[in-house]
Amino acid sequence: MSRVALPIADKPAVRSYALTTIRQHGRELSKVVGLHGLAALAGLGAPVLLGRIVQTVAGGTLATVDMLALGLVAFVLAQTVLIRFAAFASARFGEKVLAELREEFVDRVLAIPLSTVERAGTGDLVTRTSRDVAAISHSVRRGVPETLIAVVTILLTGGALVWLSPLLALPCLVGVPILTIAARWYLRRATPAYLRENATSSELIDGLTETVEGARTTEALAGYERRTKRTQHDLRENYLAERATLRLRTIFWPIADIGFQLPVASTLVFGGWFYLEGWVGLDEAVSAVFLVQQLIEPVDRLLSWMDELQVGGASLARLLGVSMVSDDRTPTGITPVDERIVSTDVRYSYVDGRDVLHGIELAIEPGERLAMVGPSGAGKSTLGRLLAGIDAPRTGSVTVGGASLVELPLEELRGHVALVTQEHHIFLGTLRDNLALAKPQATQEQLRAALAAVDALEWVDDLPHGLDTVVGSGKHEISPPQAQQIALARLVLADPHTLVLDEATSLIDPRSARHLERSLAAVLHGRTVIAIAHRLFSAHDADRVAVIEDGRIAELGSHHELVAANGSYAALWRSWQAEPSAAGRPGSLRARPHPRKSTASPEQS
Ligand code: ADP
Repeated sequence: MSRVALPIADKPAVRSYALTTIRQHGRELSKVVGLHGLAALAGLGAPVLLGRIVQTVAGGTLATVDMLALGLVAFVLAQTVLIRFAAFASARFGEKVLAELREEFVDRVLAIPLSTVERAGTGDLVTRTSRDVAAISHSVRRGVPETLIAVVTILLTGGALVWLSPLLALPCLVGVPILTIAARWYLRRATPAYLRENATSSELIDGLTETVEGARTTEALAGYERRTKRTQHDLRENYLAERATLRLRTIFWPIADIGFQLPVASTLVFGGWFYLEGWVGLDEAVSAVFLVQQLIEPVDRLLSWMDELQVGGASLARLLGVSMVSDDRTPTGITPVDERIVSTDVRYSYVDGRDVLHGIELAIEPGERLAMVGPSGAGKSTLGRLLAGIDAPRTGSVTVGGASLVELPLEELRGHVALVTQEHHIFLGTLRDNLALAKPQATQEQLRAALAAVDALEWVDDLPHGLDTVVGSGKHEISPPQAQQIALARLVLADPHTLVLDEATSLIDPRSARHLERSLAAVLHGRTVIAIAHRLFSAHDADRVAVIEDGRIAELGSHHELVAANGSYAALWRSWQAEPSAAGRPGSLRARPHPRKSTASPEQS
């Protein structure tokens, strides 16, 4: 299946994001750098004093050696203490930045239009929320502080070397071209390689998730071979991508190692020569070797973090890319003048070039009950989603009171029309929080009134802490019918004028059906209802029936008109009535005068 991957931010966008973050945290950052700078300064005491000790010993005067050794211990102790505080400060800094990044990312993810997620596949998003966030955590928690430490240490140690003797600072420069060339070679190739590694891993996860979720279908359609082939293909791509990054590392690091060791050796050799020539003191030559040796660790750290920061940067590009998804809602500021829903020449396609709706013209009057019937696959559910403003039509428009549904901000849209399906979710939290999702500013009275409207107030009051009882997985479990009532109460709170009921997805437990139907009837009362009817008795009750066939409205009129017209609806009606068990069905007209049933939640999109 071809996927439209979510976008990825480009380099300038990532850089400007990083710079903004650094600017925003200037003070904390200076504290971190300052403390690490002090620690690095204390670290310079040891090599300098070691040089002195060697010279003292070589000169045969041992008197000051003890003092020098004590001084050395003092420097090491001071460095240890300073490192402890510096590490603490940088950890705090990292955690803070990371927490902010996470919060921002959650907001970005939640803002992605549902249709984009459906097109891109969930695997991409899952990789971004798991693998990429983990990669960034690693970079932010450790990478950024350690890079800073490395830079500060390198600058101070290098400075000390020059201060000691500019001449002695020269031999170690042999490492510079080696490291520069190797690093440039590596870094240029690393970003695309790591991006590819992440992308292939998304594909792999996507495929595996699909295989597992669709295991039954695969079994039923004997699709093993295709699925196995796809998984093998994905595995191979992922393997190749990982091997490419591994190859980069195995070439780069050995060369880098030469770049580390050569300066130490050359400082030793040249330092010895300079000393023999009398250009430098013995203590200077010895200290220089120790200082260069001391440079290896931060340079190594810097390079390896450059590597990891590349990974982090690639992940950051993918996270920032999420916010580049264009919103499918472009508010125009037009407010609906009434609650009339009008569909004008609506066409829609899931796959390019294959429309499933072909120019739907339909106006639904406020307070009307419209039933949509027709064969499976005719486009009823699709039209329902468009009429509820969840998806935008390919061409044409769906408006409420003159305002296009997909141009209304989500909160406003939900006050006009909501899609009611079986999919609802009780979130871990108090019952109050669960209800307030629909209307955050709802008062206690409004919450209670909504519960009363759906007949749920009694059992809620019986809960150990009433509205403040924590419900959801692992906490106080509420039964499926109760969950459905909560979903209905959310609808009452959101108070949309129009409800689109998709009965295909509404399966209620027969034992609680009666009870729930009363709740639903209370919710439907006084609202415009568009019911996607999969049973004809619902249609019989409606003011008008729209027969959808092959993406078109084939017939439109009241039940009696359509029966009289003797078209496909009449045929359906007759065949349904002819079924011997029809009258005795739980949903039959005789058994139940108001059998429109569905359970509910406004679909979150
Ligand atoms: P109904 O509700 O009348 O059964 P639908 O609106 O579900 O019909 O489907 C209309 C057409 O659109 C069908 O041909 C169906 O296969 C296709 N369709 C529905 N959902 C999708 C989807 N997510 N991706 C691709 N095609 C789809």
